[in-house]
Amino acid sequence: MKTLVAALVMSASVAAHAATPDPIVSGRDYHSYAEPTAFRVKHLDLDLQTSFEEKRLSGVADLTVARIDANVTTLKLDTRDLTIRRIWWMRGATDLVPLRYTLGARDAMLGSPLSIDLPAEGLTPEFRIRISYQTRPEASGLQWVAAPLTANKTDPFLFTQSQAIHARSWIPLQDSPQVRMTYSATIHVPPGMRAVMSAQPIGNDAGGLKADGIYKFDMPQAIPSYLIALGVGKLEFRATGPRTGVYAESALVDAAAKEFAETEQMIQASEKMFGPYRWGRYDLLILPPSFPFGGMENPRLSFITPTVIAGDRSLTALIAHELAHSWSGNLVTNATWRDLWLNEGFTVFLQGRIMLAVYGQRREDMEEMLDLMTLRQEIATLPPSDQVLAIDLRGRDPDDVFTQVPYIKGALFISWLASRFGTEQVDKFLHDYFDKFAFQSISTEDFRAYLEANLLPQKPDAVKRAELDEWMQAPGLPKSAVLPHSDAFERVDAARTAFLGGKTTAADLPGKDWTTHEWVHFLDGLTGKVPAAKLAELDAAFALTAVGNSEIAFSWLRIAIRNEYQPAYPRLESYLTTIGRRKLIKPLYEDLMKTPAGAARARAIYVRARPNYHPIAVASLDGIVLAPAR
Ligand SMILES: [Zn+2]
Repeated sequence: MKTLVAALVMSASVAAHAATPDPIVSGRDYHSYAEPTAFRVKHLDLDLQTSFEEKRLSGVADLTVARIDANVTTLKLDTRDLTIRRIWWMRGATDLVPLRYTLGARDAMLGSPLSIDLPAEGLTPEFRIRISYQTRPEASGLQWVAAPLTANKTDPFLFTQSQAIHARSWIPLQDSPQVRMTYSATIHVPPGMRAVMSAQPIGNDAGGLKADGIYKFDMPQAIPSYLIALGVGKLEFRATGPRTGVYAESALVDAAAKEFAETEQMIQASEKMFGPYRWGRYDLLILPPSFPFGGMENPRLSFITPTVIAGDRSLTALIAHELAHSWSGNLVTNATWRDLWLNEGFTVFLQGRIMLAVYGQRREDMEEMLDLMTLRQEIATLPPSDQVLAIDLRGRDPDDVFTQVPYIKGALFISWLASRFGTEQVDKFLHDYFDKFAFQSISTEDFRAYLEANLLPQKPDAVKRAELDEWMQAPGLPKSAVLPHSDAFERVDAARTAFLGGKTTAADLPGKDWTTHEWVHFLDGLTGKVPAAKLAELDAAFALTAVGNSEIAFSWLRIAIRNEYQPAYPRLESYLTTIGRRKLIKPLYEDLMKTPAGAARARAIYVRARPNYHPIAVASLDGIVLAPAR
């Protein structure tokens, strides 16, 4: 087993990183200054003031730290753009002993290591330190949303995004997915606002607003730093079930509760297959549209983009996805960002199992087909070294690993196992895997060893070693992949062909009966040049330029850009200036940049939109829109 693991790591490393001869060390986190072999943070206690005027969190972080290696006397933490005021050793209950510390030079990707000199004597195996600090307005993990850009437009909104390595921009800690800690927090917010966290509220379970603006939380389950999350806004709450509910601004809260009413059903479907939901409540926080992602699986409280509130529950796969992370990701966590596919590939597979149970085969087939198309499109643009499941991320921003490869190719890998061993057997295997590694962080090699010891012997001839190696090490999509198929999409393809060939008019298309998925498939198949008259005909029949559904609008706007369909330009501009979800805006900018006229339009829109985008979206888009013309 050992030689096998070493061989795997070596070959992945050589393939991906020919210029760097050192092999990747499995399980080593190349994106943290922390030294978890010397110390481990066990508990974090935060007490933070929220200032919207100064765009600043300030207060103290008390860390309970276990000493693993008694010879090491310097505790290293991760920070990025934090102002550290003072640090103390908390000797006993009330005795604060000042400690010396140094903040290292700022690395553009990793931030600044905070090195704290520990006292030479008197340190217990588990000790506490207090760090007084404040954040800066440019903190990469915080977005301070101005009131006009929220749903109600009356109050500002703050939300965190700690994944991948942004927790360090608002809390000094060991910012590595292999360090798990419990946490508690006291958050002070302006009167009239509410704080919510990825934790259990203390003394205010879904109750009204607190007059003093002080909210307390406790997270009894140990989680990695990237799952620590905070939201502050003028938030209301609606229950959708005994353990589910929605936090949102008043303008959205009822629509959101209606849209996501099936969340409890999803939890029950997942529990049946993969074991108990272990986190108590499962609530959703609806964020402003500038949230750069679809969702973020913060435990107990997933953060959700408002762009999936379609009015017809057609985009709820996102909720199934974030919920599935309660098993894959939050319970069993990738040890490093190279291992992200263990979080995301498994989660996309679980999402499919949940969606199948709640919505049936027809919809699941369509969603898998759409996923496959996004994977194929992305693979076409990625170098081979980025098409492997566990990519070499050394020297790179871990946000770069969030392509479709760990998600969709990862899920297709599990589907392939299911095709060879049986879906029930693979569900059972995953159920046992979640039990075995619950509340632990594991590497790709740990998973492969577990797979080889527990699933493969069940049917020794079911997979060939070469096939398994291809899945786990080679670029592209393996020949053995079991690809989804949808009869509904075949009918849509036939309708599109008839329309383009002039055999039917737009008005005769069965579009009124199509679901979101059928519409997206229809539009995404309109590749190449489409005559302006045909687009105008479609637009007249189905009002596509004005469509409210964010995914259909996205597919339509790509067509409009490619064909310079001018009637859609005002919508394109309003879309790009009101939505900040990276998946929905990055391809539009990329499409625009392909022609000189489009590039000019992209730059003009971007200048206005950029101040309202999240720092993570800006980091992706600057290189696309502001890069000098090639
Ligand atoms: Zn995910």
